[in-house]
Amino acid sequence: MPHELLQRNREWAASQDPSFFEALTEGQSPRFLWISCSDSRVPANEIVECHPGDLFVHRNIANRIDHDDLNGLSVLEYAVEVLQVPHIVVCGHYQCGGIKAAMEHTDHGLIDNWLRPIKRCYHQHHDELDRITDDHKRWDRLCELNVIDQVEGIASTTVVQKAWQRGHEVTIHGWIYQLANGEIHDLGVEVDSPDQVPPIYRISASSSALGDA
Ligand SMILES: [Zn+2]
Repeated sequence: MPHELLQRNREWAASQDPSFFEALTEGQSPRFLWISCSDSRVPANEIVECHPGDLFVHRNIANRIDHDDLNGLSVLEYAVEVLQVPHIVVCGHYQCGGIKAAMEHTDHGLIDNWLRPIKRCYHQHHDELDRITDDHKRWDRLCELNVIDQVEGIASTTVVQKAWQRGHEVTIHGWIYQLANGEIHDLGVEVDSPDQVPPIYRISASSSALGDA
């Protein structure tokens, strides 16, 4: 019941050292932008034993950051330009319901629009995915590929590329959480320089937002 949450909050607040809250009121300087799924089984701070102030968190279904999503891009811009985070972690998870829904051919309603980029990701990798005969393994592999897709997509944003041009070192990491044992697996797809961005997405340091006349 909701009132139980309020009661737990009072107990939690009372159990903390008052200096803990004083420090937090002075501002935040997290070192990580954490992007993960809204799934209730993958809470951000808990699975990496972080405290308030440690992670700047953005969560949505299937941990997407798409270029037409004002919400996600605003979080990314604030984290990079204002908070100056040195690390962006995309942490997906196996058995993601959003990924599963994207693999189906049923009408799920509005959410199908949100999941559509995952179908594109599947299509890009259909040769590999279609060869996986085990449905569960194919699902889990798409969970991984979806994370890699986000790492590449974030690296290609103007937000990240302009940060690199300013000399702000920021690395994007792709990780995946295993519901079965609570462990996070590093997919080894770090991107930390424009050289790793496909040429067509690169912006030159001399270009302005208005372009050349
Ligand atoms: Zn999920």
